[in-house]
Amino acid sequence: MNQLIEKLSTLRCLEIKEFEQLISACVKCDDSFNQLRDKATQVAREQFGCGVYMRGLVEISSYCKNNCYYCGLRRDNRNASRYRLSDGEILSTCIEGYEVGLRTFVLQGGEDAAFTDSRLANLIAQIRHNCPDAIVTLSLGERSKESYQRLYDAGASRYLLRHEAASQSLYEQIHPSDMSYDNRINCIKSLAEIGYQTGMGMMVGVPGQTIEHLINDILLMRELRPKMIGIGTFISHPHTPFGIHTSGDLRLTYIIIAIARLMHPQAYIPATTALQTLSATGYIDGILSGANVVMPNITPLTVRPKYEIYKGKHHTTTPIAETIQSLAQQLSAIGYHL
Ligand code: SAM
Ligand code: SF4
Repeated sequence: MNQLIEKLSTLRCLEIKEFEQLISACVKCDDSFNQLRDKATQVAREQFGCGVYMRGLVEISSYCKNNCYYCGLRRDNRNASRYRLSDGEILSTCIEGYEVGLRTFVLQGGEDAAFTDSRLANLIAQIRHNCPDAIVTLSLGERSKESYQRLYDAGASRYLLRHEAASQSLYEQIHPSDMSYDNRINCIKSLAEIGYQTGMGMMVGVPGQTIEHLINDILLMRELRPKMIGIGTFISHPHTPFGIHTSGDLRLTYIIIAIARLMHPQAYIPATTALQTLSATGYIDGILSGANVVMPNITPLTVRPKYEIYKGKHHTTTPIAETIQSLAQQLSAIGYHL
């Protein structure tokens, strides 16, 4: 297995058959799994040292016009209690994060028509004004190219839009027919054309997904070369059509993160909240699989539990400064720093 791992690290790609061999060996054999993760962390350390980047996550709205089969925020989930932060709340949350050292804010939410281009542009400009050296990242789903351009011009410079499934047939199995695979991919391409640092990614273990599908994901990301790669585990939410399915597998998620690191040495790869939801050591195990970003949730505590994309979503009830301190301690125990 070592040979395949070395080959992947050198060529940054493998043949499809070899990917299958590598993934299946790492699923079954602890030695192969550990070798892959060791190589991935070595590559991350060569690029970034032992530093881990922090992004403050602000979940700005739990309203969504879409109906993704896997997500608790889907419009048909009548059990969801919805909220939408005001501009003042978003701004003061970012300022609070800035004061404790955060320099990137990720504004994430459902596709909520209340966040018009002009409202968002104004908000982005205010954040940039009040937090001068901070970067604004958006994760607000599919919008028109004109809209993306306007938000970029207003000062947003990164955009996370997971492709969700590189295989069109799987994409169509996990989304209703009013959502389009082609539009998703075109949005990702538009973002990159405009100049955004663009993020792609997918869930591991979404119902219907096979290893072949995951290899398609790996190959699509090789083609489009995102600057950020968000890989989480699918976690079942009872009030969704996929609520009867079991959640995805953490080990397989770590394997795919490690492969992504070997193929994209310079990418920002977060240890996602889904990992920490499924395991108390999820963030740390993500870093030890080659991830180099953590995204502390700084959404106001009053609404945080309502952003329930899946059941049992990990969220702390501690103030931002303490959350950061605790992350720093956990990382320092494995020789890393924020
Ligand atoms: N609405 C935007 C979008 O879809 O791109 C951003 C918010 S959405 C909640 C962010 C990500 O959450 C999605 O890209 C999806 O991969 C992930 N997600 C949704 N439901 C999930 C679930 N049940 N388990 C794990 N991740 C999930
Ligand atoms: Fe809406 Fe995003 Fe959830 Fe889909 S994944 S329902 S677009 S919040």
